[in-house]
Amino acid sequence: MIIIVPIGDIPGDVLSFLHSNLSAFYARFGIEVRVIGGLSISAFSHAFDMYRGQFLGRAFLPALSLVKRDFRALAVLGVVNVDLYEPGLNFIFGIAHPGFGVALISLHRLYPEFYGEPPDRKLLKERALKEAMHELGHVFGLEHCPNPKCVMHFSNSIIDTDIKSWMYCESCLRKLEKNISRSHVRG
Ligand SMILES: [Zn+2]
Ligand SMILES: [Zn+2]
Repeated sequence: MIIIVPIGDIPGDVLSFLHSNLSAFYARFGIEVRVIGGLSISAFSHAFDMYRGQFLGRAFLPALSLVKRDFRALAVLGVVNVDLYEPGLNFIFGIAHPGFGVALISLHRLYPEFYGEPPDRKLLKERALKEAMHELGHVFGLEHCPNPKCVMHFSNSIIDTDIKSWMYCESCLRKLEKNISRSHVRG
């Protein structure tokens, strides 16, 4: 099972879009995707850097790994609306920890409004799905892919995100299949 955990106020249409598309994709591996009741962002006040006005991405991962343990899930994906950073980086779209089996994505920089463009829910949802597929790919052992259309291609900016598709290329897909069948065996 893959569990999606909203943290803070996450739009329902984005969550259900992620849920239905991740379910449809991961069904091929016999993996169910579930959305659970969310965590409060106030539980992560320690992650907030008031000088940067951003939250430290990795600070969310231990709580997600507890969810993974409690539900005996294969992977947990947290979704936040706040801006994330990591040391040495101005911002991050998401972060994954393959060892913990957890990942986190932020919607903050996926809104067209963030770039001064008119609201576009379809675009927002597509971007969120790409980030979710990317970070889950890392959770299942995939690295960055040189193919700019592959969802495992690194996004330096939203332009890279918009260029890539939401799907793994054939080579990444093969690796993913191999890694997931192994992790099923391990339990
Ligand atoms: Zn990545
Ligand atoms: Zn690829």
